[in-house]
Amino acid sequence: VKKTALDQLIDAFQLLPGIGPRSATRIAFHLFQSDTSLANQLLSSLEVALKEVRRCALCNTLTQDHICDICSNDQRNKHQLCVVESPSDLRVMEQSHVYQGRYFVLMGRLSVADGVDPNALSFSLFLDRIRQEDVSEVILATSFTPEGDATAFALQDLIKHHFPHVSITRPARGVPIGAELEFTDVGTLAHAFLDRRTF
Ligand SMILES: [Zn+2]
Repeated sequence: VKKTALDQLIDAFQLLPGIGPRSATRIAFHLFQSDTSLANQLLSSLEVALKEVRRCALCNTLTQDHICDICSNDQRNKHQLCVVESPSDLRVMEQSHVYQGRYFVLMGRLSVADGVDPNALSFSLFLDRIRQEDVSEVILATSFTPEGDATAFALQDLIKHHFPHVSITRPARGVPIGAELEFTDVGTLAHAFLDRRTF
């Protein structure tokens, strides 16, 4: 049986983070309940974003430019590189105002279950970054989940192998176990970051 257009839309919304079947259904119906101006607005915003949004050539975060604002800011410390899982984690770090270095965004984390392998996480782009910018400290700010820990250990191996002189740190576990960075309050994150330890 072929699904209706509305059912396909509901299926698609359910793929978004934090959206379950109930919310997906509500959103889909809402878009067509009265007039379709909101649906059209969504459509055109998505079209523009799909055309304009890309990855920063240096840190891999989402940007509209070849090089993002943070990477092109000369005031930022080039010797510190903080690794985060996602652009939303980067945003939380920026809001905490504790960090003046550069970033690298993995766009995910290692997960055997989901089939995310190191190659999918731009590890080679990450190594290039350390090589090109005379990095002296890498801060592994991946989440305190089993996958985030696995990712941190994999990165540690890689860094030790290629750049033995680089010091490796990880924010203290003031951040609750199992915590996603983006859901951690800014004060807790700032404290954990300042209290980072050799990893
Ligand atoms: Zn960048």
